[in-house]
Amino acid sequence: MRKGYPTPRLEAKAKGLLTYFSGKPCIHGHVTERYVKHGNCLGCLAEKREYFNNYAKTHKETMRSAGRRFRKNHPDVHCAIQALRRADKLQRTPSWANLEAIQTIYSQAKEITEKTGIEHHVDHILPLKGELVSGLHVAENLQILLGMDNVLKSNRFII
Ligand SMILES: [Zn+2]
Repeated sequence: MRKGYPTPRLEAKAKGLLTYFSGKPCIHGHVTERYVKHGNCLGCLAEKREYFNNYAKTHKETMRSAGRRFRKNHPDVHCAIQALRRADKLQRTPSWANLEAIQTIYSQAKEITEKTGIEHHVDHILPLKGELVSGLHVAENLQILLGMDNVLKSNRFII
């Protein structure tokens, strides 16, 4: 290709497209489209996805017990992930959220629970899906509460 001549990838990028097609095979021989962002081949991706899906199908019990083991060994990380999923679903995690700071709060709650022997939860000060106002899934909107308080507070927010 002549120097300075726009490549299919650059052309696609300029057009704001997600994928481009160069006609050249990838290292695994797929002649498919590729992602503009990282140049990954869509054929490779589909193969990988199929591999994981097949693995999950044929190793159901392994996957389940691995999940159980992870939840048992890292309950705080599990809680943080669950909360992140829930917040993502409600689209309440802004791009600027400090995920590390969020994880720290979940780890603190676990630590306090272990030290005091009293269940402590991480709670959203402004609920993610409140009746009047909705909060964000960010460290500033998190507080550690006694388990019972959390249950009683439910989704109400007193203004
Ligand atoms: Zn490929």
